[in-house]
Amino acid sequence: MPRAYDDDNIFARILRGEIPNDTVAENDHALAFRDIAPKAPSHVLVIPKGRYVSFEDFAAHGTEAEITGFMRLCAEVVAIEGLGLEAGNQGFRAITNAGAHGVQEVAHFHLHIMGGRMMGPMLSLRD
Ligand code: AMP
Repeated sequence: MPRAYDDDNIFARILRGEIPNDTVAENDHALAFRDIAPKAPSHVLVIPKGRYVSFEDFAAHGTEAEITGFMRLCAEVVAIEGLGLEAGNQGFRAITNAGAHGVQEVAHFHLHIMGGRMMGPMLSLRD
């Protein structure tokens, strides 16, 4: 996916406060909110506040402060949702989709953190 960022994507509009969201946690560099169509009892999206299209864009071009802020917010979400292994919980799945083959719907990098049920096996070769 090209690096060009569309400022009208729905998560950019959430960050600008134009669309409401169900916030779970926030810091200077990232926002976590509940997915509008949850696929698990706990389904939270974590997004950087900067203009990054995809995982690779963020990983390559995010500043160290942005990447650290993003990752720490992910840890906070796992703790808030009661999913973390360190706290003796059952765990979770964290995934990100990129581009056409990743079936990415919203072109602003986001990590899905899902848990609260058995998430099932990973895809098979032909799924
Ligand atoms: P992806 O296919 O990885 O791009 O996932 C996009 C996700 O964003 C989907 O799980 C949608 O349900 C979710 N989504 C779309 N619009 C909203 C919204 N306004 N608030 C919260 N989640 C949303």
